[in-house]
Amino acid sequence: MKREALTVKGKIPEKVRVSLGSAIVLGLLNGKLDAAPTTAYLMTYRSDKCLANCGFCPQARKSQGRADMLSRVSWPAFATTRVLNGLEETVKKGKIRRVCIQALNYPEVFTHLQSLVQMVSQYVKVPVSVSCQPLNPENIRQLAEAGAERIGIPLDAATEEIFDKVKGNLAGGPYDMKRQTALLQEAVKVFGKGKVSTHLIVGLGETEREMVVMIQKCVDMGVLPALFAFTPVAGTTLENHKQPPIQQYRRIQLARHLIFNKMARIEAMSFDGESHITSFGVDKQTLKRIIRSGEPFLTSGCPNCNRPYYNEKPSGPIYNYPKPMSREETIKATEELGII
Ligand code: SF4
Repeated sequence: MKREALTVKGKIPEKVRVSLGSAIVLGLLNGKLDAAPTTAYLMTYRSDKCLANCGFCPQARKSQGRADMLSRVSWPAFATTRVLNGLEETVKKGKIRRVCIQALNYPEVFTHLQSLVQMVSQYVKVPVSVSCQPLNPENIRQLAEAGAERIGIPLDAATEEIFDKVKGNLAGGPYDMKRQTALLQEAVKVFGKGKVSTHLIVGLGETEREMVVMIQKCVDMGVLPALFAFTPVAGTTLENHKQPPIQQYRRIQLARHLIFNKMARIEAMSFDGESHITSFGVDKQTLKRIIRSGEPFLTSGCPNCNRPYYNEKPSGPIYNYPKPMSREETIKATEELGII
């Protein structure tokens, strides 16, 4: 059957957005990359903005930001068939090892997602992650049936209060943290432990302890927490909010690494009066070894997801390193941690 004729309860979206770096790797645009993405990042296309209103997002309903932006990355739109052809070639060459489809919130989004997931997994033979806001457990099952290997349901905020303010009721958005958490639990039943992710944004006003509590909660639910650093984007509600201090981000990265790899739990960690992490619940030698490996400071998320320069300007500070760190970079990260 021809790609153009494939349908899943509807028609395949004609266009799909592709992150700038992914578009260069897929041969859709010319350009040089300092760090190439190893996952191809796609986003559902619609000419209007998202129906939700997250304060950090240029796609939000009331944002004055550019409609082709997400975080600090631009996402030009291309014909879906061109994108599939590019994917087929780059996956064969081993340059792309995962596809991540991110979704805006609009009425037909799940039909679009199902079609895209089915087409990519059927024709390209590459694991597919979907990052979306399902309305109900049925949406989650439909995506699994369409062939998604993993699902990400972003919580973004560490606490209910911040969630409500930034993307829930108080922001004029449709989301509710309890419902999102219940959907994450449902997703674990469908996809299995370790096959469900969530995005957490550091720097929305939470304390370090609050973020670590949320990381532990996610891991205990069988959900993989992927860390992002808050990034102000022009035209959004939070355009004047600052990025988190790099020291705070490094400590949270290290705590996430230890908790996710079951090397420590929050109960063994210590915090000072301002809720900064002061010890990580492992002995000094182990801590040194882990820090020197650089692993805690790499982009976290689904396998092969490296999101180059999603949160940072190439000139730095580099919150998430997209490729193995050099010795100089590891030394710098150690200094930024300021603990050994
Ligand atoms: S961790 Fe990466 S691949 Fe996984 S859902 Fe998030 S952005 Fe997509």
